[in-house]
Amino acid sequence: MYPKLLTVGGMVTSAAAFNFRGQRLDFNSISDPSTTCNFFKQSYPNMTLLPTDSGYLDENALSWNAGAWLGPACVLTPASAEQLSCAVKSLVKFQTPFAMRGGGQCHRRRREHQLDQLIWGEVYTFLNTTGTGKMVVGGRHAPVGIPGLLLGGGISFFSYDYGFASTNGNMQGVEVLFPSQLFTYVVLTQNCALANSTIIQATPSGTYSDLFWALQEGGNSFCLATKSMLRTFDSSAVGLANPLYGFGDDIKTNWLTSIFNYVQNGSSDGKAAIIPVRRSACIIAFKGEGESHGLNQRFHVISHTATLEAMNIVHDNFFDAVKKYDLGSLDGFFVGLAWNSITTKFIETSKAGIRCPRGVPEEPVFWIEESLTWGSAEDTPLIDDFLATTNANIMAQLEVIDATSAYIYFNDVDETQDVFAGYPAANVERMKTIRDIYDPGYGVYEFDAGRI
Ligand SMILES: Cc1cc2nc3c(=O)[nH]c(=O)nc-3n(C[C@H](O)[C@H](O)[C@H](O)COP(=O)(O)OP(=O)(O)OC[C@H]3O[C@@H](n4cnc5c(N)ncnc54)[C@H](O)[C@@H]3O)c2cc1C
Repeated sequence: MYPKLLTVGGMVTSAAAFNFRGQRLDFNSISDPSTTCNFFKQSYPNMTLLPTDSGYLDENALSWNAGAWLGPACVLTPASAEQLSCAVKSLVKFQTPFAMRGGGQCHRRRREHQLDQLIWGEVYTFLNTTGTGKMVVGGRHAPVGIPGLLLGGGISFFSYDYGFASTNGNMQGVEVLFPSQLFTYVVLTQNCALANSTIIQATPSGTYSDLFWALQEGGNSFCLATKSMLRTFDSSAVGLANPLYGFGDDIKTNWLTSIFNYVQNGSSDGKAAIIPVRRSACIIAFKGEGESHGLNQRFHVISHTATLEAMNIVHDNFFDAVKKYDLGSLDGFFVGLAWNSITTKFIETSKAGIRCPRGVPEEPVFWIEESLTWGSAEDTPLIDDFLATTNANIMAQLEVIDATSAYIYFNDVDETQDVFAGYPAANVERMKTIRDIYDPGYGVYEFDAGRI
């Protein structure tokens, strides 16, 4: 299972190279992205989907957010790290811009050719078939993609015990934190197709340990991850509930107070995890065949310190604004406000071992995920205005009570938010240095929500 490459347009140069079978590639006639794609089709027919191919439309419409169905000139589906490396090398030669997709944050449409999606549900299904009782620290929803989640940190139900999915993974750190030998498979590596298309392994303590450190939450600024090996741990039976509490002021007060109590005291029981959402978006989005498929989707993050006053500010201002903008009348609209409740233990555990780039203070914090869904692209400017105005108002009020928190969770960040502004400056500088080593031309790999 490898990530997909979607070409998005660009200029092309004259050049020559060889494909991974050693055949000479002739780039001289290339003049635009569609010509580049035709070239791929001739050279690598099994991994190239043109707009005229069956399967292209499904690939284009795979992403969770219909706003991301951009109609690439072609979709490349490499079946090995070597093919991927070769494709990247050719795209660099052509100077053809491309985007990488893991799971596309998508709900999964159950058609046969899509059964190899890079999603967490496949991991859990596989682990279940082994009958070993082993588990990994992975995504909380089956349709979420594997590479994107890991490159952004990864909040798991198990993070309250073991930290972010991408951190706390080295042998030494594991031995220090889990002397009971709970972890049984202790190699965590990333195979990378670097900009020079060399495939290497980045490990916590090997030659590429600097790259490994950055990959724990640096996004796609450095390389293309082709494989991640996760350690497993023994997991007893997991209980999962999806309770609904109803409506009204008393329920709101009790609900927010319970969440507050959890974030303050949850460290005492790392086996307990919650995703409190006012009006569910995620579950509905992925129910059955995916009720929200084809709709526009948007996340935005508000981080605040763990106080009830701050929780009320966010809750009340957000839903007052939803009413004021009359968003409920929009075609296909639904909304969720999820209090990702980050306990002290979660953060402490994530910093174990070689530590990680984000440098969040070790204290309870909320990373609130605003999730909006709407049907028509014509309503997007209204959503833009709602998000900008409402969040400016919320942030201003949080600042007055000194309840803001600099770090915003990478994987939920909006394209208008500067995620790296919340990292310690020294860590950003270190990531820049690492990027300059592994993507020296500065531009093969770019992260769309904030370039390091
Ligand atoms: C319904 C829903 C539930 C979610 N639940 C959780 C959750 O429980 N915990 C959590 O932490 N997050 C969660 N998320 C957020 C999720 O982690 C991010 O959206 C993540 O980016 C999804 O990964 P993906 O592979 O699907 O990403 P994609 O959309 O495919 O890609 C995201 C970014 O990663 C880059 N990328 C993808 N693959 C590679 C690769 N192989 N190498 C380099 N760069 C790559 C892409 O270019 C892009 O910039 C959720 C999102 C949704 C929509």
